Amino acid sequence: MQYRRLGSSGLQLSALSFGSWVTFANQVDDSAASELMKLAYESGINFFDNAEVYAAGESERIMGRVLKQLGWGRDTYCVSSKVFWGGELPTQKGLSRKHVHDACHAALERLQVDYLDLYFCHRPDVATPIEETLRAMNDLIAQGKVLYWGTSEWNADQIAEAHGVARALGLVGPTMEQPQYNMFVRDKVEREYARLYETDGLGTTIWSPLASGVLTGKYAKGIPEGSRMTIEAYGFLKERLESEEGQVQIQKARELETIAADLGASLAQLALAWCLSNPNVSTVILGASRPAQLSENLGALEVLEKLDDGVRTRIETILGNTPAPAPTY
Ligand code: NDP
Repeated sequence: MQYRRLGSSGLQLSALSFGSWVTFANQVDDSAASELMKLAYESGINFFDNAEVYAAGESERIMGRVLKQLGWGRDTYCVSSKVFWGGELPTQKGLSRKHVHDACHAALERLQVDYLDLYFCHRPDVATPIEETLRAMNDLIAQGKVLYWGTSEWNADQIAEAHGVARALGLVGPTMEQPQYNMFVRDKVEREYARLYETDGLGTTIWSPLASGVLTGKYAKGIPEGSRMTIEAYGFLKERLESEEGQVQIQKARELETIAADLGASLAQLALAWCLSNPNVSTVILGASRPAQLSENLGALEVLEKLDDGVRTRIETILGNTPAPAPTY
């Protein structure tokens, strides 16, 4: 395993980490979750990602039970939660001081831990003053209930504003952002956030590195049984797959497979190595519904060193989506 600092913080996360979205509670029960987390941990993964909204809290409950059962030292791993979608009532959602406070305590209870290593604002809440959210996070940090707080899918201006207000008020600013990043979705990480890596020391914990499995090539011949695309509650994933854009992505995946084969790698390993090759990526969050997927994906680290300029050019030619150069200020 390789370890990378989370932005300019001192925290070293494994370059590959493990998340539970879709899988836990829908495809993976306690025993399967335990097998996956054990494999991850024994392979050097030290960060496990979760959120209050995943399976309406059940994903955190499963992870909490597994953490308790496996009994790892609390100083040997990091666990996260995210606040935003806690329920239907006005007090159960968004980034008000009330919901940030309530959601953190509920996540601690479900995960059966005393503190969250990473705590994310799962989306921006434009209806709540940033100062209110900052103070709520700052208090949780002061109380020892959260170590690092961050954002997910905020735009660069919103993150920069949070830093500016934090500096002005002497509060702790966001350490990391959790954006989608993969061969198909690149703009935020490669262009929009460019100014934040140096100025604010932004770290990134990136999601859907295989764009929900398309970048394994498995959808070339339809939807295999047991895939997340067959879960009714996540019907939007199937819709996206079957859209025109989804079909173009499936075709690009097919073309990318040739490059992977030339490197003696699977497409999943190539796609993950490509994410890892971006130095502004602190950790790539893996998702897996079975151990064989996770074992294969862990092999991405060995493919990383094979990504020379020639390979990268071949990839860019197929993708055809190189972001415009980052603006300079
Ligand atoms: P991926 O895009 O990597 O998709 C993972 C899924 O792809 C697996 O569950 C599995 O699905 C399939 N897969 C993975 N490896 C293989 C393989 N080797 N061969 C065949 N199929 C494979 O990541 P996720 O979308 O799961 O995102 C990862 C994590 O990121 C989440 O768990 C969560 O922690 C975080 N996240 C955060 C979001 C945010 O808004 N902050 C949003 C989404 C995710 P299948 O069961 O279908 O086979």
